[in-house]
Amino acid sequence: MTPEIWFVTGSQHLYGPETLKQVAENSRRIAEALDAAGQIPVKVVFKPILTDPEMIRNLCQEANASSNCAGLILWMHTFSPAKMWIGGLTKLTKPVCHLHTQFNRDLPWDAIDMDFMNLNQAAHGDREAGHLHTRIGLRRKVVVGHWSDPEVLDRLGAWSRVVRGWHDLQGAKFCRFGDNMRQVSVTEGDKVSAEVRFGFSVNTFGLGDLVKVVNEISNATVESAVKGLADEYSISSEVLSGQGLKDATRIWLGVEAFLKDGGFAGFTTTFEDLHGLKQLQGFAAQQLMKAGYGFGAEGDWKTAALLRFMKQVDGEGGATSFMEDYTYHLDAKRPLVLGAHMLEICPTIAATKPTVEVHPLGIGGKEDPARLVFDAKTGPALNASLVDLGHRFRLIVNEVEAVAVPPMPNLPVARAVWDCKPDFKTAVGAWIYAGGAHHTAYSYSVNTEHLRDFAEIAGIEVVVIDESTNLHQFRNELRWNDSAYRA
Ligand code: MN
Repeated sequence: MTPEIWFVTGSQHLYGPETLKQVAENSRRIAEALDAAGQIPVKVVFKPILTDPEMIRNLCQEANASSNCAGLILWMHTFSPAKMWIGGLTKLTKPVCHLHTQFNRDLPWDAIDMDFMNLNQAAHGDREAGHLHTRIGLRRKVVVGHWSDPEVLDRLGAWSRVVRGWHDLQGAKFCRFGDNMRQVSVTEGDKVSAEVRFGFSVNTFGLGDLVKVVNEISNATVESAVKGLADEYSISSEVLSGQGLKDATRIWLGVEAFLKDGGFAGFTTTFEDLHGLKQLQGFAAQQLMKAGYGFGAEGDWKTAALLRFMKQVDGEGGATSFMEDYTYHLDAKRPLVLGAHMLEICPTIAATKPTVEVHPLGIGGKEDPARLVFDAKTGPALNASLVDLGHRFRLIVNEVEAVAVPPMPNLPVARAVWDCKPDFKTAVGAWIYAGGAHHTAYSYSVNTEHLRDFAEIAGIEVVVIDESTNLHQFRNELRWNDSAYRA
């Protein structure tokens, strides 16, 4: 199943076969250019020009049925009367991007005639389309500009990554080892509503079944994996030869085997249900997030799914992790957030080579767990939180600036330190008013545009706390959204 984007051009028969031939040729050239563009990592496929309601309905049905089609880019080269599109678009289940472009960049002022005018009518053809899209409530992204414009390619590229992630989420399975952390509210939620809304399922598996798989991993397999770790990370000879890392490695390989066998896209754990495991599965979470799995601690399946989606937006080379706002530095001049978790932070966000260490963990009552210890990178980043408000989901995003991590010799976990936008008090106040969680998906590579596109496709509310946020305005936005998103 290789996700691809269909490039779909609308026209009509009014202008004769010669014009349609030209439309098809131009459209093919644009599709090929988008496919070749470095900004767009997903394959773009040219589709034949649509000129009547039957063709449009058939194309939309074909898109729905295609396991490869992740989304459609629509463009009206000439005028395409939009009532023709009602039958198809009202039944379409794949994400849509409306590219409002024109084949020629410049007008040939000296040569322009009515044939040229009829061939290049997107300026009003796409308005006709846009009216119908709005009229039927079609959720879509609108991108405006010439198809060679780097900014247009960036917008399309962002959307292509998002539809790749959305495509992956449809039918994705998430595994919960144990239930929710007792009494915790924000990590709970309606898994049925989530499956209806986002297309992924979440189900629980007994810890005993995992323990069995963990115990079946052979000593030779564990030894060989530990050797591999030594090539990748800094590990003292004491840790390398000790039992703690061997046990953590066995748990990692066991969880991985369990996930592979069940076809899972991600998982959750809880330190309150570790019966039969020697350690919390923290090192496993770190290694498996790095491999692209979604993860949420304390049963947090919403963050696990969001993280998996964001890993798919990234593709290769992203820097995205499970995260928790852990504690604050409340210096009035520059308040900072220290983000960390007990163990489970993804090494893709590391600034330097992580070390593997084994230390006691004051929670869970198990043996001392191994963990990757590192400082996170500096630079622009964001935190995203998906919460269940009971009758609907809300996505909350805060843009931050990650700063250098001060030395913390007595804190042997992976950690990040950031400065919130627009400022600490506004950002944290807005986050709390919005009901954002303490768990987030934290990323340097997924940006706000990706998350806005995701919310649009899913049809959920997204609120963004960034440089322009005013707290009073933000609270009004929440109030207004309560009305706008009332079911
Ligand atoms: Mn937590």
